[in-house]
Order: sequence, then C-alpha cells, then structure tokens
Amino acid sequence: MTAIFFITGLIIGSFLNVVVYRLNLVESVSGRSHCPYCKKKIRWYDNVPILSFIILGTKCRDCGEKISWQYPLLEMTTGVAFAFTGNYFFMLSNPISWIETLFYLVIFSLLLVIFTYDLKFMEIPMIILWIAVGWTIIYFLFADWVSFNPQLGIMSLNIFSGAIGGGVAFLFFFILVSVSREKWMGMGDAYLALLIGLVLGWPKILFALMIAFTVGAIVGIILISVKKKTMKSQIPFAPFMVIGAVVTIFILQSLPYIKYLLWYY
Ligand SMILES: [Zn+2]
Repeated sequence: MTAIFFITGLIIGSFLNVVVYRLNLVESVSGRSHCPYCKKKIRWYDNVPILSFIILGTKCRDCGEKISWQYPLLEMTTGVAFAFTGNYFFMLSNPISWIETLFYLVIFSLLLVIFTYDLKFMEIPMIILWIAVGWTIIYFLFADWVSFNPQLGIMSLNIFSGAIGGGVAFLFFFILVSVSREKWMGMGDAYLALLIGLVLGWPKILFALMIAFTVGAIVGIILISVKKKTMKSQIPFAPFMVIGAVVTIFILQSLPYIKYLLWYY
C-alpha cells in the first residue's frame, strides 16, 4: 500500500511542478507541459517522474538546457509525503480514514507548492493558500459533524480549535509584520501562519512555530557563516513554517509526553 501512495505522490509531484511554473506565468494549469527554455512540448516518455530526469542526464532532449533540480526534488518529496500520509492515516477497513487521508494528501500538496514557490520567488501564492483554507474548513465541518462528542466539549471540535490556532498565529505574525514594516516577514507569512494554525489547531500551532523559528535560525546562521547571505538579506520563511507543520503532524503527536501535554489542554 505504501508503494501505491509513493508512486501516486511522484505523479502528483510532477503536476505540482507544473502548478508552480504556471502560477508564476499566470497561464492555465491544463495543457501539455513544455520546456521552459525552448518551449518544445515534452514527450510523454520524457515526462516520467524522477526516471526521465536521470535518463535525460538532467538536460532537455531538444535544446540541451539543464533541467532544474526543483523538478526531481519536488517529485521525490511529494512521493515521500504521500507514503508517510498513507502509512499514518489510511486504514482500508475504515472509510472515515480514507477521507482523513485525502484531506492530508491535498493539504501537503498545497503546502509543497507554497514551500517551493516561496523558495523560488520569495512570495506566497495567495490563490493556493486560500484554496487550502477553504479545503480545511470544509473538511473540519465534515469531520466534526461525523464525530461530534458533546462530552468532550467545544475545544474538541476541529473547527473551533483551528479557529483559535489560526487566529492566534495570524495575530502574532501580523504584529511582527506591522512592527518591522515587512522587513522581517511579509504579510504572506501571516496568512500562511493562519492556514497552518487552522490545520493544526490550538495548542499544536505553538510547537510548529517553535520548530519553524528554531530551524529558521539554524539555517540562517549557516547561510550567513558560509557568506551566502548577510544579516540584512531576506530569507523566505514559509519553508520553515511548512517544515514545522509537517514535523508537528507526524512526529510530535506520536511522542507520549507531548501527547499528554496536548490532552491536558
Ligand atoms: Zn528545451
């Protein structure tokens, strides 16, 4: 089953590359993909995730221009993300888990587009972000409707916990952005914090932000010390928030101590 999820992820990852590319050009996402340099259509047998990149020797068959590493990396990452999601959420005997799995597959795909886009263009694609917010709200309303238990109280509702998590995270970044006049963070980062807070809910968003700032600081220090960046240069923050969210979903929730803390809230 994991292999099926992995291969599906590779194919979706290949599509996500197209989404990142076309979003920037404001083209439509449909239509066959073509080489960004010579504009020639890519043959179907040259469009196999990972394999084509290796077989073609990382170059376009028509013009010989180098194909960006972004393509195989995003395909591979999506494959791995899908495999983890399938392993973690999917149970063949439980149809509700199918929907939960689908929810996370879509969310991770959208987060990967935001991750790649921000890394490449230093900007968060707002259309993708709002699609993710809408998708999360729809899923939460459904999940709460299916599994509402009045004894657990209102905080057990995904939609409620998500609203608080998203609200607090947004407010925090909104203040950072306003105080720094968009020098430390952009408004896009505040909206991404809103999305991630919504998905994770309160108080899990706190863990995700802690991880994001820690990883961000470490990477920043490394980049400055190898002189790739200076203290003044901007480093996109969205990738760190996405990492924080993914780590929180897959790792923190399974640690017994954190589980206890989360129950306590
Ligand atoms: Zn070409």
